[in-house]
Amino acid sequence: MSEAPKTAEALIAEGRTFPPDPAFAAQANANDPAIYERAEADPEGFWASFAEELDWFQKWTKVLDWQPPHAKWFVDGKINVSYNCVDRHANSPRKDKVAIVFEGEPGDVRKITYGELYEDVSRFANVLKSLGVKKGDRVGIYLPMIPELPIAMLACTRIGAAHSVVFGGFSVESLRERLVDSGAKVLITADGGWRRGNVVPLKKTSDDALLDAPDVSKMVVVQRVGAEKCPVTMEPGRDVWWHEAMASASATCDPEPCDAEDTLFILYTSGSTGKPKGIQHTTGGYLTGVYATSKLIFDLKDSDVFWCTADVGWVTGHSYIVYGPLANGATVVMYEGSPDTPGRDRFWRVIEKHKVTVFYTAPTAIRTFMKWGDDLPNGCDLSSLRLMGTVGEPINPEAWLWYHSVIGKGKLPIVDTWWQTETGHIMISPLPGLVTLKPGSATRPFPGIAAEVVDDSGKPMPIGHKGYLVINKPWPGMLRTLWKDDNRYQQVYWSRFPGRYLTGDGAVKDEDGCFWLMGRVDDIMLVAGHNISTMELESALVEHPAVAESAVIGKAHDVKGQSPVAFVIVREGYHADEALAADLKKFVGSKLGPVCRPDDIIFTADLPKTRSGKIMRRLLRDIAEGRVLGDTTTLADPHIVASLKDKYSSDEG
Ligand code: ATP
Ligand code: MG
Repeated sequence: MSEAPKTAEALIAEGRTFPPDPAFAAQANANDPAIYERAEADPEGFWASFAEELDWFQKWTKVLDWQPPHAKWFVDGKINVSYNCVDRHANSPRKDKVAIVFEGEPGDVRKITYGELYEDVSRFANVLKSLGVKKGDRVGIYLPMIPELPIAMLACTRIGAAHSVVFGGFSVESLRERLVDSGAKVLITADGGWRRGNVVPLKKTSDDALLDAPDVSKMVVVQRVGAEKCPVTMEPGRDVWWHEAMASASATCDPEPCDAEDTLFILYTSGSTGKPKGIQHTTGGYLTGVYATSKLIFDLKDSDVFWCTADVGWVTGHSYIVYGPLANGATVVMYEGSPDTPGRDRFWRVIEKHKVTVFYTAPTAIRTFMKWGDDLPNGCDLSSLRLMGTVGEPINPEAWLWYHSVIGKGKLPIVDTWWQTETGHIMISPLPGLVTLKPGSATRPFPGIAAEVVDDSGKPMPIGHKGYLVINKPWPGMLRTLWKDDNRYQQVYWSRFPGRYLTGDGAVKDEDGCFWLMGRVDDIMLVAGHNISTMELESALVEHPAVAESAVIGKAHDVKGQSPVAFVIVREGYHADEALAADLKKFVGSKLGPVCRPDDIIFTADLPKTRSGKIMRRLLRDIAEGRVLGDTTTLADPHIVASLKDKYSSDEG
């Protein structure tokens, strides 16, 4: 990839920086800048120092065994994840500390201490055993965001079974496919869950999925909603109620010593680029990675109340609602429902009520809150907050600055964390007490992570130029393979640059060594010989006062190769007309240079997003180029593409 006109430079040139606040830095878990050199000089020693803070049944004999592209971390080590996330706190003065604060969408609140969590996890581990689940088996979990979800996951880890959590918003076919692919024996579900005031009928979906998932022989059902609003049929011999099974289960269950390389879980990627991949994570390295990153990036202290708004059905929830924070003995908030129920200030109310100190959300949510206006957050007491984070997509500087000023009152550090389902834990992010923040940049690789930006031939890109983001050395939380498909693992991640992990994302490194993520390599357009990332145009568009959100794609063009097409959602109070379209084209052209001017502007009320909230540009390309739509199974709302398709052809015609 070659030099771009003014684009990546335009982002970097914004030039606004935010050095760490000295008071924050003084109390930060990571406050010695030498940590970077220390980790670079001896990454294995660096990671081992965190593994040593965990409790092992048997210590490892070797930190890393690297036979590219296969890694083993903490070789011969024996450990149990639930022991580290629960028992060691329950056996300490943290016993009565709240581990999970749950708030349901209807407003019900439950607080579970570490002592109580210990009993629930042990009980459910015994329930799993009684259903015939053994070490090495897979357990499917399809639950709403309720405490039974982390309890079920931890119970699996307690007996050495691998879980495969399927996001509760998925349909029959997506659930069935994931259950069959992972070979789950048992499914844990609920009668239903609450979403926007409606009941999501999970048991019904599970019943339908099981019509054609012959390996699943038992189903455990949590009664979340109740028979009045969500009646279900229990199949005798197959289905059991969670509360009935728990009532007769013993509250002691010895944690199984697992090998560091035993499979901890399988999780399917969100599918924004195609068919979801079954990412396989193991035990010792993953736990070390999520423990260390939670401690240093989220700066977790015993006094913190940490709220990550992701669903546990995604990797963000696995690593930063369940395993990372609980391994640190933190208090985590879990919220069941949508951000606009009953009102659009629900998130700010949750922060106010539970005195959240560290808040971690996604750019797509931040852009939505921006669109809803400042009055909602300004009407709540957010003074408990001390640190904020984002994950999931590049955050455009405009949204970063809004988050910083309106939610963080101009004072709080923001950690923009780049990582993937595959990486298991955060890979690029500021350490909030050490690194100067730059809106729109995820800044520096986490200590011990060897990230680099390279060209087609694998040579480092010069500063300020776009290239492929690769990781040069193995890291503890890395995926070990794709479930039952090691060939695809080798081909997707390791064949492009042998021995180096291909992230699939484009990036630019600036003169301070900070990384600017440019979205997926597939989303980089080649316009009249220039590499332009869709994300750069989107960031420019969102700076226009009329634009709430946008998605840009490159459409095949006879002369230019590709021409940029922008799908735009306008802010409340603005009129989507030809004059605005002309103005937007001019605006982008003057900000980024004439090559970047979008050829078409399509106004829309919604964008096609995955169920994790990411824009599916692949489908927008299909629409713009008049193709049959590709795989749409992970779409949150399939109607959006259909109506966009109609709109696109009528606008074109
Ligand atoms: P699939 O691989 O199936 O297409 P996906 O990549 O959307 O799905 P995830 O693993 O959840 O599934 O997402 C990881 C991707 O999200 C990264 O590769 C990157 O493109 C994007 N991403 C995550 N965090 C950030 C961030 N802080 N800045 C920029 N991009 C980010
Ligand atoms: Mg991906």
